[in-house]
Amino acid sequence: MAYGHILVAVDQSEEAEAVVDRARKLADHHKATLSLCSVVKPLTHVYGGLDMMAYTQAGVNFEEQAVNQARQLLEALGGRFGVAAKDVHVSVGAPPAQIVETAEAVGADMIVVGSHGKHGLGLLLGSTANGVLHQAGCDVLTVRIGGESH
Ligand code: AMP
Repeated sequence: MAYGHILVAVDQSEEAEAVVDRARKLADHHKATLSLCSVVKPLTHVYGGLDMMAYTQAGVNFEEQAVNQARQLLEALGGRFGVAAKDVHVSVGAPPAQIVETAEAVGADMIVVGSHGKHGLGLLLGSTANGVLHQAGCDVLTVRIGGESH
C-alpha cells in the first residue's frame, strides 16, 4: 500500500530538520504529497493560565506575531525540502488536537512526528507524539530522536 499524503508536524526544536528529512524521503518513496504543520500554543497555555489579561490587544498581537514567525520558519524549512507554501499550515491550540485536525483537513493518510521535541528525552515518547498517536485516525510514524537505539 502506498501513502498518498503525508503530514509532518514540527516544533521549533533543532530536531525538526531530521524529522522533515525522514518524512521527505518517505513521501518520495510513496510518491505522496508532503505537508508541514506547526502549532502555536495559545498565550494562556504558555503562561499556565495566569490571569494576565491574555486577550488584551497586546496579547492578541503577541499571538499573531508568534503565528507569523512560526509560518516564516516553517515556510523556510519547507522550502529546503521542496514543500510549497500552500502545503504549510500553522494553527493555534493544543498541539496533538491541532495536528490531527490538520491531518483530517488536508486528507493526510500518515502523520510523521519526532519521538521527542523540546521537552527532553526522559520519556519513551514525548507528550505530543503520544497525544497524536492516541487521537489520530490515520497511521502515525514517530521518528526516533536521540537516545540509544536498540
Ligand atoms: P514532544 O512530544 O512535545 O516531545 O514532541 C514530539 C514531536 O511532536 C516533535 O518532534 C514534533 O514532531 C511534534 N511536535 C511537538 N510540538 C509541536 C508543535 N507545537 N507543533 C507541531 N508539532 C509538534
